Amino acid sequence: MFWDREIEALPRPELEALQLARLLRTVRRVGEHVPFYQTRFREMGLDPASVRTLADVRRLPFTTNADLRASYPDGLVVKGPEQVVRLHTSSGTTGKPKALFFSRKDVDEAAELIARCLVMAGASQHDVLQNMMTYGLFTGALVMHYGAEKVGMLVIPAGPGNSERQLMLMQDFGSTVIHTTPSYALYFADFLERKGIDPRKDLRLRTGLIGSEPYTEETRQKIEDALGITVFNSYGLSEMNGPGVAFECSERNGMHIWEDDYLVEVIDPETGEPLPDGETGEMVLTSLSREAMPILRYRTRDITSIHREPCACGRTHARIERITGRSDDMLIIRGANVYPQQVERVLMRFPEVGRNYLIRLEGLDEMIVQVELSGATFDGQLEHLVRLQEQIVEKLRAEIMVRPKIELVAPGSLPVSEGKAKRVVDNRKL
Ligand code: AMP
Ligand code: ZN
Repeated sequence: MFWDREIEALPRPELEALQLARLLRTVRRVGEHVPFYQTRFREMGLDPASVRTLADVRRLPFTTNADLRASYPDGLVVKGPEQVVRLHTSSGTTGKPKALFFSRKDVDEAAELIARCLVMAGASQHDVLQNMMTYGLFTGALVMHYGAEKVGMLVIPAGPGNSERQLMLMQDFGSTVIHTTPSYALYFADFLERKGIDPRKDLRLRTGLIGSEPYTEETRQKIEDALGITVFNSYGLSEMNGPGVAFECSERNGMHIWEDDYLVEVIDPETGEPLPDGETGEMVLTSLSREAMPILRYRTRDITSIHREPCACGRTHARIERITGRSDDMLIIRGANVYPQQVERVLMRFPEVGRNYLIRLEGLDEMIVQVELSGATFDGQLEHLVRLQEQIVEKLRAEIMVRPKIELVAPGSLPVSEGKAKRVVDNRKL
């Protein structure tokens, strides 16, 4: 099913022609109206009029997280405040957030992309969406909300947390689709299990739109088994309007990225050089349709690869692989490079492992992984637990080249955050 077959299945030559026209328009507009880019172009000796092909994108400057913070509150906005209708911010870990402005058209276009994603995941006006993301400055909930209304779904703006209320809403209004993070989906599955609710029998859930933080294929499987739903991976970032940037189709072989609105590159994060299709590196995105705040070559720091072969679903837009982490997620532990996703992948392959984990780094480079067990395993025999602990240590050592200490803990005992999961606590005194 398509929301807009004409654009979703546009033959690639036409798609690329559209991208080029929009790229040229974007470069011209920022060159005329955004002092930040005017300065950059001048410093690089770049005449915006000399940009003529899609490959010329490589001659444009990168925009980084630090650039967005430095231009806070509105240094990258094209039009005066009267032209913008919405402000969102992106959570920063420290200091000021990044401020993102939307024009009327930007709000509509973001909703349009979400509508494509929802229909691609099989949703229709007969569905009830329980939107369990955070409403407010964060883009996650509101952007999804507008898109789902466009499709004609009944949207329940539940927000995150408060599992009792979530369950009540699901039961009373027959929610069929949920939108949440992988960590909350797993937490909620635990909650249902403790309440003795069988989602397959007692609820009408069918589909999960799961994203906003990285997760592995193993975690997807766990969520699907625990909630009896089909999970679609949903990717977005506030700098590019929030959710709806890339999303899985029914083939679930990577996420289609809406190339009429985003020009994708994958680069070597060290050198900034472009990598060929299929190679893994940092994704860089240029917005092609944003009106209030166009962004050139945004360094997402998200690690993935891109594939442009045709997809069996008929869509022509490229696919990106599941994000395996962020270039700034990498931990250096006793000299080894470790990504939290590697740890998750190993843990979630164990059926005895429950639904949450936490990596703690202590002292002079000691790695401790706290692992929640499944209910049945937790109540099991001690010898079994000791053996399990040893097996996890061995499998992790083989994957990450570091021998961690494993602490097996009770289901539901590790902290859960309402927003994005915090997987690592670093207390090292290095
Ligand atoms: P924010 O701007 O606060 O919405 O955060 C955007 C970031 O969340 C992205 O740059 C990714 O690092 C992460 N993210 C969002 N969706 C996904 C996903 N489906 N898989 C992995 N990471 C994701
Ligand atoms: Zn497809």
